[in-house]
Amino acid sequence: MENYRGLLTYTGGWLDRAGGRRADAKWLAELLNSPDTTLIPFWRDQCLVSGDPPVPVTLQAERADGAVFLGLDADGHGVFATDLSGMEADRAAELAGADRALDLRVIVGTLSPADAATAGYGRGLLHWHRNQRFCGSCGAVTDSVRGGHQRVCTNETCGRLHFPKIEPAVIMTVQTEREPKRILLARHRGSSADRYSALAGFVEVGESLEDAVRREVDEETGIQVGEVRYVASQAWPFPSGLMIGFRATASTEDITVDGEELLDARWFTRLELARYAVDNPLGRPDSIDRRLLRTWLAGGDDLEPDATGSTKT
Ligand SMILES: [Zn+2]
Repeated sequence: MENYRGLLTYTGGWLDRAGGRRADAKWLAELLNSPDTTLIPFWRDQCLVSGDPPVPVTLQAERADGAVFLGLDADGHGVFATDLSGMEADRAAELAGADRALDLRVIVGTLSPADAATAGYGRGLLHWHRNQRFCGSCGAVTDSVRGGHQRVCTNETCGRLHFPKIEPAVIMTVQTEREPKRILLARHRGSSADRYSALAGFVEVGESLEDAVRREVDEETGIQVGEVRYVASQAWPFPSGLMIGFRATASTEDITVDGEELLDARWFTRLELARYAVDNPLGRPDSIDRRLLRTWLAGGDDLEPDATGSTKT
């Protein structure tokens, strides 16, 4: 029995990515045609699913045009993802033998951690392919190479290589220096009323991750941050994020909220946060947000396992 209690959803290294073998096109072609290979279809960022609860369907290799190589499963069998976005939803579902297309975040609560991680990986990689069809340097068409982990410009005088795009974002719990420790949470525009969550934001060009934590907290709340410590990271392929979680210590306590991006921010003691959590979800069930908040609530240093021990809500 694998121990996945400590893992964040969409992560876990369940597949051997076999990065050293991706250049071997002959090996990849043979693997793709093997009857043991699993081919996971996607339609415009959505999983093609059947059944109740809905489970992502898999295909046979003859539908494998343009498949990308995800890796080898525990039995050494190939796992690929294929994109049916070029057709209408009904046609894609019919071809895949699926009932319908659903977003991964809608079905993740009933998937195993391994299936959730694999589905996120396939979704993210195919999303990049659809958005990197042309070279950003010269505008020529690009081709998929190395099992879909690079694209290369077809213009011979350019030939630029393109790598899957990942957009890093920092997410942080910020606590007071003074006892009793309190945590800074914010209510964002667009979230439901009274829903408080951790602060987060994209890393900008020319910043370290620690710089990004300090800038985001300052921009959103006016709070100055001293110490910043890394906690954990989470693949967030919606569409191409990487969430990098930190624990930060505030050196000031007076909050100033812009009222635009953030509607409100406030300090919570552990007791106040525990009371809040009775009636309100702490972050998305599949997110590092929830785990960071639960870890702070528990007063620990290591990331708290999800209470259910799985991705289920
Ligand atoms: Zn080019």
